[in-house]
Amino acid sequence: MKVYTNLEIWMAAGSQHLYGPETLKMVDRDVRDIAEGIDADERISAQVICKGVVTTPQEITDLCIQASSDDRCAGVILWMHTFSPSKMWINGLKQLTKPVVHLHTQYHRAIPWDAIDMDYMNLHQSAHGGREHGYINARMHIDRKVIAGYWKDAEVLERLDAWMRAAAAFQDMQGAKICRFGDNMREVAVTEGDKVAAQIQFGYDVYAHGVSELAEAVDAVGEQEIQQLIESYLSSYTLEQSLRPGGPRHQSLEDAARLEAGLEDFLKAGGYTAFTTNFEDLHGLSQLPGLACQRMMEKGYGFGAEGDWKTAALVRAMKVMGKGKGRGTSFMEDYTYHLDRENQLVMGAHMLEVCPSIAEETEVKLLIRPLGIGGKDDPVRMVFSTPAGPALNASIMDMGNRFRLLVNCVQTVEVTQETPNLPVAKVLWKPLPDLTTAAEAWILAGGAHHTGFSKDVTVQMLEDFARMTGIEMLKIDGGTTIDHFTKELHWNELYYSMKAFSQGI
Ligand code: MN
Repeated sequence: MKVYTNLEIWMAAGSQHLYGPETLKMVDRDVRDIAEGIDADERISAQVICKGVVTTPQEITDLCIQASSDDRCAGVILWMHTFSPSKMWINGLKQLTKPVVHLHTQYHRAIPWDAIDMDYMNLHQSAHGGREHGYINARMHIDRKVIAGYWKDAEVLERLDAWMRAAAAFQDMQGAKICRFGDNMREVAVTEGDKVAAQIQFGYDVYAHGVSELAEAVDAVGEQEIQQLIESYLSSYTLEQSLRPGGPRHQSLEDAARLEAGLEDFLKAGGYTAFTTNFEDLHGLSQLPGLACQRMMEKGYGFGAEGDWKTAALVRAMKVMGKGKGRGTSFMEDYTYHLDRENQLVMGAHMLEVCPSIAEETEVKLLIRPLGIGGKDDPVRMVFSTPAGPALNASIMDMGNRFRLLVNCVQTVEVTQETPNLPVAKVLWKPLPDLTTAAEAWILAGGAHHTGFSKDVTVQMLEDFARMTGIEMLKIDGGTTIDHFTKELHWNELYYSMKAFSQGI
């Protein structure tokens, strides 16, 4: 299903004039067939546009420049149907700034044993044409995804779609604006980082605003806007009696709605796609923005608490990657452990700010309860749990000479126990391979307590995203051992130190 309606993925075949015009016509026909076939598959979430065959250095360079300068183009699929001498590609590839996937496939699945001759071989020679293309990319140290296999196969199409989803997030990040109300909170280290380095690496810019600017936007909200939001709450969630119209705490719900409307107006006016808050800096706001943050995440905004702009940008990217899948993505924090030897679990939550997209079909309740920190009126919040199923947590840290993306695959389990004194949204999960190994590996890698939690985003999408942004990626999954993970940390330290040295960082 096409969920990225404003984006295009371009596809082109590389060839040359050695084989004559008839062969090139067939190459052109075949690449169109493949592009249309991929585009028509329901697993593919972006439109695939065929750009035909490129056969000369000029055609290749023109294609690369057009792709790089076209805002609709989120990435390029390259296929070497015949043999395309790769010295022709050097100038173009130097100028190609969009993500690339090298699709190493062949038009026909099977060799036609009775009919095969040299003409057939000359047309269907990606087996060796693809190697020439691989060489020049490797020689030029270009990070790209290589997908080998038959173009109609499910795994190939699924891998292509994962890459497209990462490319959509990458495109969304270029020139994106992240809004930061206040600064970093207290002396927390992991939420800090080099914003100039982040802009160079990821393409987004972080803008600081005083919380009083938000308070002004909240004060400017009209009564009609508030009533529309109240109606939306009533139709979408189960409200506790005191919050309903006429109830003794209804004014608090109106205050929460005013906060949401003001926040949305502010973010829209500034063209922001993600934001952070800081519960020590709430001057001019009546309550901590709990419901408002949850609702903005539900609408697709990225969010990071306590000034955490890296996580805000990551949550936004993960929301773009998971678009249309429907199982949800949220800001998250590893909060509390259940260290029962037979059933080790992590409880993930935050003070209030967990996105209801991960509730799926679970009932979402709207409650008002006191909050021990923040020093404001009791905040309204959505409360729910998350159904069982596979998910992951991801986090980005600034390691000084590079950004590190750390991912842990988890299995969400159903919450069967009541927690009457914990009126917040929460998730229970078993980390892979087990809590001990996952927690030790996460700590060894310097992983943050804030994460993007998703049931839609896959490890593969994040691997593709890390490749596109040129950052380090480490995963903790069912195959992780501390012994190997420690070595990987040491190897990466060496690799990235040498890379930073060669780039003069
Ligand atoms: Mn936090």
